[in-house]
Amino acid sequence: MTVELPDRPLFNRFPNIGKRIPFTPLATLPTPCESHEGYGGAGQLVVKRDDFSGQVYSGNKVRKLELLLGRALEEGAKEVLTFGYAGSNHSLATSIYAKQVGLRCISVLLPQPNAQYVRRNLLASFFLGTELHHVSSVSAVALTTARIVASRKIRTGFAPQIIPAGGSSALGTSSFVSALFELNDQIESGKCDAPDRIYVPLGSMGTVAGLAIGIVLVGLKTKVVAVRVVDERFGNAQKTLKLAHKTCTMLHDVDPSFPVIPEQELRSVLEIRDEFFGRQYGEFTPESIEAVRRAREELSLDFEGTYSGKAFSAFLHDAAQGELSDKTAMFWNTHNSRDFTTALSVEADYHDLPKGFHRYFEEDIQALA
Ligand SMILES: *Cc1c(COP(=O)(O)O)cnc(C)c1O
Repeated sequence: MTVELPDRPLFNRFPNIGKRIPFTPLATLPTPCESHEGYGGAGQLVVKRDDFSGQVYSGNKVRKLELLLGRALEEGAKEVLTFGYAGSNHSLATSIYAKQVGLRCISVLLPQPNAQYVRRNLLASFFLGTELHHVSSVSAVALTTARIVASRKIRTGFAPQIIPAGGSSALGTSSFVSALFELNDQIESGKCDAPDRIYVPLGSMGTVAGLAIGIVLVGLKTKVVAVRVVDERFGNAQKTLKLAHKTCTMLHDVDPSFPVIPEQELRSVLEIRDEFFGRQYGEFTPESIEAVRRAREELSLDFEGTYSGKAFSAFLHDAAQGELSDKTAMFWNTHNSRDFTTALSVEADYHDLPKGFHRYFEEDIQALA
């Protein structure tokens, strides 16, 4: 009997990986490349439209969840448990796609600066039946999680499958190795010019680590400009390289023809930028707010202030400095642009959420969607 492999570039290149690692189809791929000649002072801006990666909800988490939820299903889990900040796109994406494949979702969420999208994401997750837990500090996460897992085991006999913050395990990160192969296929078939740089936010680091591995493997001359949007304790060069190493090792164990790339080769394609972060995670900088406005008005792209706005402000800065005048710069759009509130007919009252989340609906929000 021949089993058809899912059509993903990582699996096409490494069929043994395709046969052996878990997968459930969720995404609409490949995502288009959209070219803007001369934009902002760059030779060319190419936008990789991962905001078309899913029907109901898009952005970079959909690619990761194909593997992460694939594993949960393969292992017979009934529930997944994941982490994030209160407005986490990852938690919401997991809520939506877990439900689609018949899994319950539990989210353990940390405080963050308030914004409209925090309200929107919390209400949608709650409406979908996700069990939301508010924790007040990073140090409380492990204890809360242990408590939830223990009570689950007593009640149902099963522990929920744990998905790390941002979906950035070695498995989740592999989906972005595949995403880079997808881009390379588009370059080779003439649908897109090879970028000199790819601008992308650095959060839980899976997106950046996966792209960097892919670039080394296909031999592009591209640099990943990773714009840090989380505290340096959580996202930095050393941790990114460690995650990349873990990912290579995992894939090498599945298929020995997948190489474990030496650290210095990964380091040479990676450039981490710290100066667009501002004061804290989720706090919009003036540059980020301006970048969101320009993306909307000039490119009809729907960005937000926490991730894509900060990364795009790095591109705008470099372009305005004249650094990109003879270059092709890619902006990898990691943000969702689907109107999931309408698609899912979200109807929920915040008073029904756990008390710790009420403040997001009662306190002021930062300017911007
Ligand atoms: C999660 C997220 C990121 C960060 O990606 P990581 O793989 O966690 O580094 C970037 N942009 C948006 C919109 C996200 O939701």
